[in-house]
Amino acid sequence: ILIHYYFVVISKFHTAGCASPEDLAEELEEAIFQEFKNTDMRYKNRVRSRIANLKDAKNPTLRTNFRIGAITASRLAVMTAEEMANDEVKQLREKFAKEAINDAQLATVQGTKTDLLKCGKCKKRNCTYNQIQTRSADEPMTTFVLCNECGNRWKFC
Ligand SMILES: [Zn+2]
Repeated sequence: ILIHYYFVVISKFHTAGCASPEDLAEELEEAIFQEFKNTDMRYKNRVRSRIANLKDAKNPTLRTNFRIGAITASRLAVMTAEEMANDEVKQLREKFAKEAINDAQLATVQGTKTDLLKCGKCKKRNCTYNQIQTRSADEPMTTFVLCNECGNRWKFC
């Protein structure tokens, strides 16, 4: 009897905590409809792109956030492809953004010239290097190298 009671409580909790997928889909369609006020191509494309992202096996976060209400239907209705993008893609974008910052730092900081480093591309020993703290202070510095002969760039820790 106790176990039965437990299951009743659990199932009640679930229906109270989460809207059903059908309700959520309806809410989402309604939110998109409110923006366009009709069901033309733009409306259809918007609905289609939301569904594609929600169904994406590599993007469980978006689905879960929508399911538990962390992302509301009205928010999801206006999210860009980038915002909906799966975690993997997000991490890659962040990585690229970080590298771009490193490149920018490299461009402004006057490096140290050395003939100790050999360019892997043109095999010449005419490089400029910079050491930059990319992560936390207790981690080793990353050395960015620029070949003054051919412009090849690389880095090592
Ligand atoms: Zn080179």
